[in-house]
Amino acid sequence: MTVKKSFIITFSFIFVFLIFTGINKANEGAASMISEASKKEAITKLIEKYGDTHKANIEKGVNQAASLWRKEDGSEKDFMNFCMNNYLADKKLREKTFKRFETNFETILGNYLKISRELSAPLQLEMGTLLPADYLFAEFSPNTHFDDDLFNTKIAFVVLLNFPLYSLEEKMDLGRDWGRLVWSEARLADMFDSRVPSAVQQKRFAAYVQADDYISNYNIYMHNITSGKYKSLFPDGLKLITHWGLRDELKSRYNDSEGLPKQEAILQIMEHIINQTIPSCVIDNNKVMWDIASNTVTSKDDGNAMTCPAENNFRYKHLLNIFNVERNADQFYSTLPTLIDRRFKKQREIPEEKVKALFESILNSPIIPKVAKIIERRLKRKLQPFDIWYNGFSERSEFNEAGLDKIVKDKYPNVEAFQKDLPNILEKLGFSKDKALFICSKVQVDPSRGVGHAMEALMREDKTHLRTRIPADGMKYKGYNIAVHEFGHNVEQVISLHDVDHYMLSGVPNTGFTEALAFIFQSRDLEFINMAQPTKETDYLAILNDLWQTYEIAGVSLVDMEVWHWLYDHPGATDAELKTAVITIAKNVWNTYYAPVFKTKDQDILAIYSHMIDAGLYLPDYPLGHIISFQIEKYLENRENLADEILRMYQTGRILPDMWMQLAVGEPISTEPLLKAAEEAADIAKNTK
Ligand SMILES: [Zn+2]
Repeated sequence: MTVKKSFIITFSFIFVFLIFTGINKANEGAASMISEASKKEAITKLIEKYGDTHKANIEKGVNQAASLWRKEDGSEKDFMNFCMNNYLADKKLREKTFKRFETNFETILGNYLKISRELSAPLQLEMGTLLPADYLFAEFSPNTHFDDDLFNTKIAFVVLLNFPLYSLEEKMDLGRDWGRLVWSEARLADMFDSRVPSAVQQKRFAAYVQADDYISNYNIYMHNITSGKYKSLFPDGLKLITHWGLRDELKSRYNDSEGLPKQEAILQIMEHIINQTIPSCVIDNNKVMWDIASNTVTSKDDGNAMTCPAENNFRYKHLLNIFNVERNADQFYSTLPTLIDRRFKKQREIPEEKVKALFESILNSPIIPKVAKIIERRLKRKLQPFDIWYNGFSERSEFNEAGLDKIVKDKYPNVEAFQKDLPNILEKLGFSKDKALFICSKVQVDPSRGVGHAMEALMREDKTHLRTRIPADGMKYKGYNIAVHEFGHNVEQVISLHDVDHYMLSGVPNTGFTEALAFIFQSRDLEFINMAQPTKETDYLAILNDLWQTYEIAGVSLVDMEVWHWLYDHPGATDAELKTAVITIAKNVWNTYYAPVFKTKDQDILAIYSHMIDAGLYLPDYPLGHIISFQIEKYLENRENLADEILRMYQTGRILPDMWMQLAVGEPISTEPLLKAAEEAADIAKNTK
């Protein structure tokens, strides 16, 4: 995952201690106080002053500014004066003002992000024992009053009066004909499409921080797991984070002749987490043994049985908290009144119906059952539910993980060694030495507590950060594989900040596009350590792997999407009701798209994803990332220089996703390239051993 600008603008990284501010604006409501008569008067006067050619702009600007003008901003007369004094009729002045906004927002947003990142570093990085104060600083934000200040100083109203806001539909209709300046002005206006009071923002931010902290510390000590007759299934010191660590361990066992009972055990652990029957004392606790078959706990000190209550819906409480804070904010978004709207229409900028149709084209594809048969033949057994994570197609499963661990450990004993090698990775992709050195000078590698992530910079003088977990005895292959993925994010972040012509357009259309470059890097991880054997065989197997992964995460995403619709349909639900709903939805999605392939019904495994709990409808970005990245990779297949193409594509910046893709590969986002390639690959595989 990556921390993106959209998150920053949405949350505004806001949190203060409510008790000290004593202000609760949540009940203020979202209604404008400017009467129709005043708006009309302002419009008439401005047209008188500047002429009829400005009519459309004036009408739009005055209405936009009036819609968010509140009592504390001044009287109706103040509003009128503001409009008369701040409408930018002169073209040159308007352009100069816009440029000043870009410069100033780079300064403001860039520094805010830097401060937040540094204050939360003790929680995210391996910096020794946490102090109680670290949690408070992590929740503190320098831009607590960011939105308020922009409105109080009237900066926001200058934007609203002079730069038109466009809905997603309008952008889809008109944006094709816009130049770069119009696009960047539209992005400036996007920042002010709502006015959420800081008290509401603070509650929202706190709920996400708490959920993230809950997930970040949800570790299972695998060497303490027994399962009936199996007494020591997992090696010593294996501490896995839910769910990524569990899933990746499960995947790695396809290459282990004794792997099946371990995979079954991991499935059982996941079931206990989803159903919340997991004993609470086994979470992040190395002092107890847990027998997952009988679901009993014993002390490691004396071997005595312990009573330990089940986790009891705590997982779903966090999701419910996030729903409640989002719902509390809904009234302040007049054109995007649900989180579902905000995620699809504002952040992804692809209508939900199109996203769903893309996913269904994969889930319903007749190629899926063919691929399932091929997997069964390779596994020499019937499919089990956890085979949604089958990774025996990918070339790395042909290698022995211990051998890979050794290579990676020798190459990267510590963070510094990894940092130093980054330019070489880029040169292997065709970047010039200079460009590679420049990009890597903007990437800082940090030792992470969690599984790792990439964090962008929002000003050119700052660096992006690559967080990775490196054990004391050196990097492991799994950690390396993730770090390479995160490095792909960093490279995108540097190019799309430094090489895009307007600051307001810096970045990518949505997180799917940054995931695309991360996946492209990750899929070449063996190449970077001189291990890849790119034969025709690995090519077609890699395509089947792509399809199977997209099939898995598309279903998981549909669960996430349906859960959010269910939440909005049941706003008063309890955590227990939410748990039942999530499990029911997961089983329904399973029964529709997976049961016919796996020949087993009512599985709830699709509900295990941690980001469903802590990231508020983020999951659809993953399959979009797969689809987008395949489309881009397919295009890149026969290009001579990967680096030139990456640089060309990622300097486009934050226009609409379909338009970005059109410029990049010559067609809008589509699953066709993946399905077509997978069909050919399945035919080859069918006729091979
Ligand atoms: Zn990612």
